[in-house]
Amino acid sequence: MDWLNASDGRIETNVPLADLTWFGLGGAAACVVHPRDEAHLSDLVRRASARNIPLRVLGGGANLLVCDAGVDGIVVRLTEPSFTAVEFDGTAATAGAGAELMRFVKDSVGRGLAGLEGLAGIPGTVGGAIRMNAGGRYGEIQSHVIEARVVLPSGQIETWSRERIGFGYRHSRLGGAIVVSARFQLTAEDPDTLRARFQEYWRAKKESQPLAAHSAGCIFRNPPGQMAGRLIDRAGLKGRSVGRARVSERHANFIVAEEGATATDVLRLVEEIRCAVREKFGIQLETEIEIWEPDRQTCPV
Ligand SMILES: Cc1cc2nc3c(=O)[nH]c(=O)nc-3n(C[C@H](O)[C@H](O)[C@H](O)COP(=O)(O)OP(=O)(O)OC[C@H]3O[C@@H](n4cnc5c(N)ncnc54)[C@H](O)[C@@H]3O)c2cc1C
Repeated sequence: MDWLNASDGRIETNVPLADLTWFGLGGAAACVVHPRDEAHLSDLVRRASARNIPLRVLGGGANLLVCDAGVDGIVVRLTEPSFTAVEFDGTAATAGAGAELMRFVKDSVGRGLAGLEGLAGIPGTVGGAIRMNAGGRYGEIQSHVIEARVVLPSGQIETWSRERIGFGYRHSRLGGAIVVSARFQLTAEDPDTLRARFQEYWRAKKESQPLAAHSAGCIFRNPPGQMAGRLIDRAGLKGRSVGRARVSERHANFIVAEEGATATDVLRLVEEIRCAVREKFGIQLETEIEIWEPDRQTCPV
């Protein structure tokens, strides 16, 4: 622990990441740091980069599969109040990257501010949602982001415009930049109409996806002009299992982890689905979820 110290924030070692991800799978993080604020985060990132220590940021763990071996290096969590605050200012809002996305969406809807209601039911944090450009058929977060404050691997803090963030389909061009907060532009709307729309979107999501199960949402990106879930379904894979990981009956692009599943079960099932879809339709599916593997670097603690 020679270069980490109490001023970096709360430090935990050997933390089971299964407890911090929606899949509920995978090994431990060698070290988890909860920086106090942006300045401490910047300093931590700069020192980790200088030492070549891998540093990852964990949001709500809703789009993540952690391998059974866990991860080396540092995992940063933006859980301190300076990263979770949300402030409204007229029809604009500033949200910390560590704020829970659903809380932010519900607060906006409750204030009669439209724009984010299409994200109803999407778990995770504001930071993770920006990195992944979270969304679906009712809209994407990118449409309402004005700018984001980011910490670069050098430790430099910058404000990036929406254009610079480079949003794409479930993608951004943030690279190694960590989002610390973002500013949003919303639109005033009749609260009752807005609430009804939010509830309709929420209901549609609950009906079509296994939200109560252990999963990471959609496993694969939709190939151009196709729906990955439909291809998996047409390949006859609904309900298919490897170990205790199973293709959801409700939504074929979801893999659900049952009691006793391992990350390896999920990875094997991912490969099996890929093979079957390639053989049947000649289409190579690409994963939408992030997969964390160990870096085999020296543990910093
Ligand atoms: C039941 C279920 C339903 C879902 N439905 C949808 C859906 O409808 N639409 C959709 O788009 N997604 C959906 N998802 C996926 C997931 O909710 C989104 O991708 C979400 O935005 C991930 O946010 P997170 O905070 O959990 O990110 P994490 O899973 O913690 O991390 C994902 C990636 O973002 C990075 N990251 C996290 N925080 C930051 C930050 N502050 N700065 C930079 N990078 C960061 C991580 O390093 C990682 O690379 C669903 C997931 C589940 C489990």
